[in-house]
Amino acid sequence: MHEWALAESILVAAVEAAEKEKLKIISEIKISIGELQQIEQDIFEFALEEIIKTQGDKLKNVKTVIETEKSTLKCKNCEHTWDFSDMKKKLNEDESEAIHFIPEVAFVHARCPKCGSPDFEIMTGRGVSITSIKGER
Ligand SMILES: [Zn+2]
Repeated sequence: MHEWALAESILVAAVEAAEKEKLKIISEIKISIGELQQIEQDIFEFALEEIIKTQGDKLKNVKTVIETEKSTLKCKNCEHTWDFSDMKKKLNEDESEAIHFIPEVAFVHARCPKCGSPDFEIMTGRGVSITSIKGER
């Protein structure tokens, strides 16, 4: 169900931003979803569409564009940074499936490719955010 809550908060934020910019109509919202965000994109898009239907004229003809943000990780030991997608290639199917649902699992399986330390942090690619809003005044 959290896809619905996320979709709603994105739309609320978009409307607020549009009000600040004095936009009468929002024509496009670009949304970025991190690779490590636990979300079912199909459900999220469906939730967006359904919630938009219940909104007023401001969102009537809005187009939502969803982009995936790459996840990058940084080793706390040697400061090496690497892409989550590279790491994912080395995992077997069960592991990558598990990470899709529980990103924290990545911490259990992953090691810094440079120094082998299991101590690293997620720099980007977590969470959902609005990257741009287009509209008419
Ligand atoms: Zn390292």
